[in-house]
Amino acid sequence: MNNLHTDQQNLDAILTEVKQQGINYLNHIHERSTASSGNVETVINLNEEGIGAKNTMAQFNQRFEPIMVASSGPRYWGFVTGGTTPAAIAGDWLATIYDQNTQSANGNGDVSAKIELETIQLLLSLFNLPKDFFGGFVTGATLSNFTCLAVARQWIGKQMGKDFAREGISGNVKILSATPHSSAIKSLSMLGLGSSNVIQVNVLQGNREALDVADLELKIQALNGEPFILISSAGTVNTVDFDDFEAINVLKDKYNFWWHIDAAFGGFAACSPKYKHLLKGWENADSITVDCHKWLNVPYESAVFFVKEKHQLLQVETFQNSNAAYLGNPLENFSYLNFLPENSRRLKALPAWFTLTSYGKQGYQDIVESNVEMALQFADFINENSNFELLAPVRLNTVCFSLTDENLVTTFLNKLNASGKVFLTPTFYNGKKGIRAAFVNWRTSASDVKSVTTTMLQILTEL
Ligand SMILES: *Cc1c(COP(=O)(O)O)cnc(C)c1O
Repeated sequence: MNNLHTDQQNLDAILTEVKQQGINYLNHIHERSTASSGNVETVINLNEEGIGAKNTMAQFNQRFEPIMVASSGPRYWGFVTGGTTPAAIAGDWLATIYDQNTQSANGNGDVSAKIELETIQLLLSLFNLPKDFFGGFVTGATLSNFTCLAVARQWIGKQMGKDFAREGISGNVKILSATPHSSAIKSLSMLGLGSSNVIQVNVLQGNREALDVADLELKIQALNGEPFILISSAGTVNTVDFDDFEAINVLKDKYNFWWHIDAAFGGFAACSPKYKHLLKGWENADSITVDCHKWLNVPYESAVFFVKEKHQLLQVETFQNSNAAYLGNPLENFSYLNFLPENSRRLKALPAWFTLTSYGKQGYQDIVESNVEMALQFADFINENSNFELLAPVRLNTVCFSLTDENLVTTFLNKLNASGKVFLTPTFYNGKKGIRAAFVNWRTSASDVKSVTTTMLQILTEL
């Protein structure tokens, strides 16, 4: 009997083992190291017959599992790393088991996009955004920025009397931004818009990363009425600063531009009455990026784009899979493949649908407020210890700090990360080497903050 046939008969045992291992992993995630130790030899030849799922699992457990880090655990504070809620895991497993190719919502052999369209509505509701946005799922905020800026590209072409999607790009497209995320710049490269075509807008005085609206207006006026794309930030990665969206609204009434907001994680400020003021006015953007594998706490790979419905024709012009006659007219038969980069795609919305439905608005308000509270507690520790200093005030969920003696930053961070008790990432801010701690995991508690600060004090004594 071949291995595939045997596995089919042993499906129950295989999945039971996976489930048990998953439970063990998640129940002990607090104890698992955040630092990888050891290495594995790479296998370069595939064996002839295969070894079956049971032996493959044993091999995985022997070679890879012991060195997997607790990146979805409560003390993985590097980058902006979310975890996974129980309901999100359930939805993710089912997305794999049902294995839909999510395209259409019309019942012609596939209705899975109905779930995706509904999930977009639930997210708009979570964020208190109006219903005149069309949205969909992509793999991450990078691809969401790419998708939004691709529609922006088509829009600006039209302003110049061109159809960039058909003709290719020509002329000089102007992009304005103050502190764009690296992935927005990468998207400009991928889109042929040119990463060096960004006109730098000044940031506000006084340790800010938000754009200076007065300077923005000067730079707009220098364009003499040329259309442009504005990339603004709802949460910069270093100091979680937000551009002033109400002020941008005023400019939007006066000048002709596409307004994109990268709200990858900062968009979740909308979940809390305490922090939603940071986003005031964002609902008038032409497009918005939000990551789900960060603060929504669903597994990788998950993010959404929101593009105003009035731009749907531009979106279809950009993404339509038009030379495949059997796929039909994109405007008559809705299919996601005419609205975003991928054609075949997994039911990415299902984990998000599960977690949103399970925990509701209150659940996400609690996660956001608790994470911000943990950031503030950690910042208190930094403030109270003369060996450390904050590089910026804590505006939401990230603490950007340094050592008073900047020369010790790298050694300190390497030792701290090697402890396996916490993982933090280095940064460079305001001309100084720094360290970032980002709080976006629903599991993180005050006792995690306490144990990290204890480890930090210990490492200070070893420098
Ligand atoms: C994380 C992040 C991105 C990129 O997101 P990926 O999910 O890694 O593709 C873009 N913008 C901001 C503000 C982010 O924090």
